[in-house]
Amino acid sequence: MLTVGILIVLLTSVGVFFLSEQIEQQAMSDLEIKASSHFDQIVITRHWNANYGGIFVKKTGYMESNPYLKELGVEPDIHTIDNTTYTMKNPALMTREISEYTYIDQNLFFHITSLDPVNPVNAPDEFEVRSLEQFENNVRSSYEIFQDNGSYFYRYMEPLNVVPSCVNCHAGYSVGDIRGGISVKFPIDSTYAYVAQQKQNILLYGLILLVLTEGLLYILVRKYITKPLGGLIEGFDRLSSEEFGYQIVAETNDEIGILKSSFNDMSKKLEKSRKVEIENLELQKVNELKDVFIDIMHHDLLGPAGTVQSYADLVFEMESDEKQKKRIKNIRKSAMLLVERIKGAGQLAKLENGTKLELESQNIVKIIESTIQDQQEHLNEMNAEVEFNSSSSVYALVHSTIKEVFDNLLSNAIKYGPENGKVIIKLDDDADHCKISIVDSGDGIPDESKIEIFKRFSRVKKGNIKGSGLGLSIAKKIVDLHEGTIGVEDNPDGKGSVFWVKLKK
Ligand code: ADP
Repeated sequence: MLTVGILIVLLTSVGVFFLSEQIEQQAMSDLEIKASSHFDQIVITRHWNANYGGIFVKKTGYMESNPYLKELGVEPDIHTIDNTTYTMKNPALMTREISEYTYIDQNLFFHITSLDPVNPVNAPDEFEVRSLEQFENNVRSSYEIFQDNGSYFYRYMEPLNVVPSCVNCHAGYSVGDIRGGISVKFPIDSTYAYVAQQKQNILLYGLILLVLTEGLLYILVRKYITKPLGGLIEGFDRLSSEEFGYQIVAETNDEIGILKSSFNDMSKKLEKSRKVEIENLELQKVNELKDVFIDIMHHDLLGPAGTVQSYADLVFEMESDEKQKKRIKNIRKSAMLLVERIKGAGQLAKLENGTKLELESQNIVKIIESTIQDQQEHLNEMNAEVEFNSSSSVYALVHSTIKEVFDNLLSNAIKYGPENGKVIIKLDDDADHCKISIVDSGDGIPDESKIEIFKRFSRVKKGNIKGSGLGLSIAKKIVDLHEGTIGVEDNPDGKGSVFWVKLKK
């Protein structure tokens, strides 16, 4: 706003200055035209006179004959037989006499002059000498403005060129020579007053225009910028004092209106992200609580549960009564399940804490072989067998936790498969991935449960098969952390399911 204001002041000043200069130049040009036309008139009159070889007038009263004509060898007077005398008014004398008339009448003064005057009255003054010298150098006119007795005068001068009629009297000159010049002088106070008045008017109009423009600018800026922006400033103040979601009224559709709408959007987004931030903080607290709970579970529950399991084992071995033995077996199974659940919950909680696994290229064949070995006792219990035919090495990017996935899938295949059953492990690979499929011949999984079983504590077929419902959710979490995929399909070759895991190479 300040810059625009200063710019308007500058432009108005330049405009006022330029117009004032124009008026002054126009006045000077008018003065030159006026002086030049006076000069032209007197020169034409002189030519008229010279063409007649001078004009004779009746000599009356004290009228004197031109004494300088005699010097030029011209007799100025003619006497008639009736005793009347006529005397010659040559161009120079005529010019001087007309000048006396115009001086009295119009304050306009002519002066015929030359650097070599016949009549000393026609001797040039300082301005005229300077001008005559300039005319010798082909300057066509000259002027000056001077002050005399408090009044300003304009002086103008042009050269007098010799024409054929001049040569009659002024022997020794050729046509075209500069014989001298005529200067014209007249007062210009009224012109000066006019110019001053015009300049004053322009200055006044300029000032009025300036005040009006600046005033209008102020009103417009206040109405369309400052006031609407006020709402925005208030809005930003509120945001900086964390009043997220604060809305301002956007009543126009112009740029400021758009800016306000954008502000409102931003404010809403800030409010949302603040909510998310608060929720995150709360989640963080809940997570911390969960960690504390998991730690308590590990330290305070796992120990006693393990002890119950060990004592149950011991008492089971010592007991000979079959009825009691059956009861103790149930205690033992429940204790085992308790230990399994506590361990599983702890493991899942750890994985869900956003752990990032460091993957390295490992031979999957070896990991599967080791898994089969570890499950040997379980296989024996179920009198089941595993078929695994594979090349000696297939590498994939894995972390040591991947073994838990294979452990769980193979253990489930044995557990939910029939006694004397057969589990087939297949390993396929292409350039980027490898796929491990574990095929069992159990009862299979209904379609509606195929996704559910990967969720925590989700169990489909319980029967008297013990389980925590955590194994597959842990497996899925581990595979996700490998950026791999896990799924289940019906066994295409008969009864049972195919659990598969796809990993990056
Ligand atoms: P758990 O076996 O301890 O119950 P899991 O998470 O490993 O927990 O398995 C979840 C459920 O999925 C099991 O309870 C079972 O109903 C079903 N399930 C898993 N594997 C198989 C399988 N190979 N055949 C049939 N059902 C299965």
